[in-house]
Amino acid sequence: MRLFPRVNRKNRSQRLTPRILYFFLGIALSWGFAPSFAEGRDLIRVLILRDVSLVKVSAEGLNLFDMKTGQSLFKNRKFTSHLFERDSGARVRLRGQNLLAPGFLAESAGSHFRINGRTYRDYLRILPGPNRDLWVINILPLEEYLVGLINSEISSQWPMEAIKAQVIAARTYAFYQRTNRAGELYDVDSGVSDQVYGGTGKEDARSRKAVEETRGEMIFYQGSPIFSVYSACCGGKTESGEYMWTGFFPYLRGAECVFCLDSPHFVWNYSIDGEGLASALGGGGVSGSRVLGLEIGDRSPSRRVLAVSIQSETGRQIIPGKDFRRLLGYDQLRSTNFIVKENGGFFHFSGLGWGHGVGFCQWGAKGMAEAGADYRTILKSYYHGVEIGKNRR
Ligand SMILES: [Zn+2]
Repeated sequence: MRLFPRVNRKNRSQRLTPRILYFFLGIALSWGFAPSFAEGRDLIRVLILRDVSLVKVSAEGLNLFDMKTGQSLFKNRKFTSHLFERDSGARVRLRGQNLLAPGFLAESAGSHFRINGRTYRDYLRILPGPNRDLWVINILPLEEYLVGLINSEISSQWPMEAIKAQVIAARTYAFYQRTNRAGELYDVDSGVSDQVYGGTGKEDARSRKAVEETRGEMIFYQGSPIFSVYSACCGGKTESGEYMWTGFFPYLRGAECVFCLDSPHFVWNYSIDGEGLASALGGGGVSGSRVLGLEIGDRSPSRRVLAVSIQSETGRQIIPGKDFRRLLGYDQLRSTNFIVKENGGFFHFSGLGWGHGVGFCQWGAKGMAEAGADYRTILKSYYHGVEIGKNRR
């Protein structure tokens, strides 16, 4: 059931009361003092834009509210574009309308919103961010979010059992983070740090079929939805959760994976010179203008690098392997399962897999599905000791 049912123009006035109620609940949550709005209504709050000073939002049928007071500012039925910009203080300005607010809530009453060439459904919050920037948060039903997510995370042309496994992992992850971040402004980021979501433009029939045929199904460990992390390709062995995150995740246990061998991401290479390396590592506080040498420290049981010793002209520093990867870039150093050789001032990395390697292996799921496994078997092979079922809470 939709929280914000589409309102026919005929009965708009009759439906106003619950809409306003939901709206105020939304405001309360955004200010951090009403934790159950998103959870109770099965909506998800997705951070789709940050680090911008202005954003253009277009839609046919856009209703705009002051997010703090709840005041309806205007309703447009025609196609209109609006430019929101960060005020010099902690507010957002709507250019051309002389409207200033601590934040705006936009409702798409007609077509989807268009932002930067992408389309988004239902609701947007446009807020001042912490770095004198703007944040745009899309609020939409969790199940619709999953339909749009598939073609950003994998491909809907993959075998249906692999798509269903991905849907359930993503649904469980979203549910877990929504609970975990109930007091924060958003539930999930739309980038690789959480789950990649690019709006409604990538929705298609196969993604929707996978979502509908697994509706409500999640992954449970001892009755609770799990922290169902995943990565593109584990490189032959998944990593245990304790090497990536602080906490106790008994279901995130490293295991062999023979199904991602055919992945185009199974083996990778990357080269960078000593100056470039120093520049990248400088963002993490590593001193020096040129790296002279690297030494690999301990490795986890899955052979992932836990520590890197960096020699520059100013001395030697040791940093965790996962920080080393983050500083070089997740698309450059594709995993921490690597070896490195120095030659003529260049560092040549060779590695296995793409991503942190913990939990579900996307390319492995594809391989398992092609070998005839169903989605339950796939998920249970990557998450230890779990059950797949409908959420009964
Ligand atoms: Zn794998």
